[in-house]
Amino acid sequence: MATEERTYNFSAGPATIPVQVLEQVQQELLNFNGCGASIMEISHRSAQFIEVLDSARAGIKQLLGIDDSHEVLFLQGGSRLQFSMIPMNLLRDENDRAAYIVSGTWSSKAFEEAKGTGNIDLAWSGKDSNFNTLPASTDLALADDPAFLYYASNETIHGVQFQEDFHIASTPLVCDASSDFLSRPINMEQHGIVYACAQKNAGPSGVTIIVIRKDLLTRSQASLPGYLNYKTHVEQNSMFNTPPTFGIYVVDLICKWLINEMGGLAQIADYNNDKATLLYDIIDQCDDMFIGHAEKQFRSKMNVTFNLPSEELTSQFLEQAAKQGLTSLKGHRSVGGVRASIYNAMPHEGVVALRDFMKSFYTQNS
Ligand SMILES: *Cc1c(COP(=O)(O)O)cnc(C)c1O
Repeated sequence: MATEERTYNFSAGPATIPVQVLEQVQQELLNFNGCGASIMEISHRSAQFIEVLDSARAGIKQLLGIDDSHEVLFLQGGSRLQFSMIPMNLLRDENDRAAYIVSGTWSSKAFEEAKGTGNIDLAWSGKDSNFNTLPASTDLALADDPAFLYYASNETIHGVQFQEDFHIASTPLVCDASSDFLSRPINMEQHGIVYACAQKNAGPSGVTIIVIRKDLLTRSQASLPGYLNYKTHVEQNSMFNTPPTFGIYVVDLICKWLINEMGGLAQIADYNNDKATLLYDIIDQCDDMFIGHAEKQFRSKMNVTFNLPSEELTSQFLEQAAKQGLTSLKGHRSVGGVRASIYNAMPHEGVVALRDFMKSFYTQNS
């Protein structure tokens, strides 16, 4: 059975998807919901697909605890397209300013790209410490009444994650939640936009989920190109052009899995905390072998990053892990070492297997 040959896949993205979801996709692939064709082969305007789209939207709203205050959009272009769409839509005029927290590779890229669209201020940067730490709201340099404050809740490459939501009175927060979307509850009231490409924690690549507070839609100027205007997508029900139908279908199945099997975001957050603790405990116990990158209080529950004392030990670690079915653990080249991505769909047993491997690697090599 193919399921038994699956490895524990610690890839940062595209990343592991719940087996139950994959099995359902497999089961429904030739004949979706009795319509005689696969979900990939039917019109995005068909009743069957509209039902999937509505269900995916409802699932996300239910999980995030929002109702009519926010719109949920399913777009293409990945999170990268949002780096320019956000300032293009949310800056109120050409004199307006937005503030950015730069806490790792992804928010750096967002900051650089936003600069091409308007006045963008740096509110804080963690570059000097190679992005192993995060600011408190009191550390931020903010001009008067910024259009929005941008941050990445979890930096996928460096493995730092904000542990609490910010609160900056009257300034909408814009959050790149690409690598921790739906991994824990989030205070949506404080957020103008929360967005995530699906391929880390919410589905396959090809679809990006944007949750936008309705009052911000008045900022989108009619002069923007159609695809780049949030208002267009809201008005067209995410069907301005053909949406990524297959991706939306898998996002819907993952929402159902989260709601029905995992019990919602508070429960999955506990599950994720337990998994992360297993790895950080062994890192702390064997800190002459596994050198954690992030400062303890900002450690990511999604991407656990650490280095070994030498390149040679790192290669041995990765090689031996792969032989035991623990795959895609190589760290990003900008941080090096090892990165274990343990999103929602990584089972507890997978993390236990990695922890046990780390223990025995430590005993054998120290
Ligand atoms: C992966 C990632 C991105 C980029 O996503 P694309 O879909 O490849 O554009 C942006 N931000 C964060 C935090 C990510 O993890």
